[in-house]
Amino acid sequence: MIMSEKSKQHVDSCRFCWMCHHICPIGNATGHERSTPRARALGISMVNRGSIELEEIMDNIYECAGCGGCVRECVTGWDPVMFTKEVRLQAALEGKTPEYINVLIDNCLETGNAYGKTQLCSKLAEKIAAHADKTDVLLYLGADARAKVCEQGAKAIEVLESAGVKFTVLADEPATGAQLDFLIGAANETKEQMAAAAKVMNGYKTVVLYDPADAKAVKQLYHEYGIELECRAVTYTAFLAELLANGSLKAKNTGKEVVYHDPYQLSRDLEETEEAREVISAYAKLSEMLLNRAATVWAGNLLMAEYMPEVMKAVAERRIFNAKSIGAKVMVTASVSEYASLKSVEQNDVEILSLEDLILG
Ligand code: SF4
Ligand code: SF4
Repeated sequence: MIMSEKSKQHVDSCRFCWMCHHICPIGNATGHERSTPRARALGISMVNRGSIELEEIMDNIYECAGCGGCVRECVTGWDPVMFTKEVRLQAALEGKTPEYINVLIDNCLETGNAYGKTQLCSKLAEKIAAHADKTDVLLYLGADARAKVCEQGAKAIEVLESAGVKFTVLADEPATGAQLDFLIGAANETKEQMAAAAKVMNGYKTVVLYDPADAKAVKQLYHEYGIELECRAVTYTAFLAELLANGSLKAKNTGKEVVYHDPYQLSRDLEETEEAREVISAYAKLSEMLLNRAATVWAGNLLMAEYMPEVMKAVAERRIFNAKSIGAKVMVTASVSEYASLKSVEQNDVEILSLEDLILG
């Protein structure tokens, strides 16, 4: 397999190391050693040495969420996310991605979302239609809110309406490329999708990114991949904190006791941790998860639920258990995908709320 010398070095450093195996939310959910960064590196090194074929490790390659928990834990600075993404790209170039992943890739290319959805739910379509006029601010909802959790997309719009913001939402919002980046890394198709989205965004002064996965792509990966962004790109959480600070969003604190679940894209990738806390603290009484901010534990997502739904449920269950174990009764998250993942668990111990749920009451 063709692999950069840099990635090979990281693979060879991880393949006999156990130091972060307790961190991986997938490994902890499956209980399988094969799901951990070390085992993934071992498999890749065996392909590199010609002992096994690339096809034999591809299921394992797609088990990684790219959450970066292991990268943060690594005291020696090695990066399993980097080499995992490189293998995905190489597999795509060699036509060796699994069939269940090919379906998602084709959907991304044909419909702009991995789920192949071509129609919005009627409530969201109505909400979007009310914001069709061009303004300075573009609210970017993202693939998950539009295709899978449309009631949350509608609530994200309602929150901005309640603050009197003039903003636009696109009926035909182009994909940011975040899902393709997860599936095939920095392929030409990913960069083309990103460039097309950036062109649309550059027609606005400010782009508000509702989904943290899109925020990471736009605010971090676009720069890495040489995609030019001329607008101000801001996370939905940071935008809400601004609205609160300038008095547009008027909060009433109910005193409800809540904990905040940090989406890793915000807390680890973009190092944004306090904005959501400022918003939550204006509406409720906030306390902390034991694993908070950059130490957060990923709670599952909708994209991986397409091909490993039981594992996603187990990942979400473990995060709910984290909340329950400190006596938390309400957990608020700012990730639409993790919200859906947490909500998919049938339980009555911990109430799951989005930031919008909390604000709209
Ligand atoms: S990322 Fe660091 S801690 Fe984890 S397996 Fe690799 S070398 Fe070990
Ligand atoms: S990035 Fe996350 S899911 Fe992937 S190996 Fe590291 S800890 Fe596990």
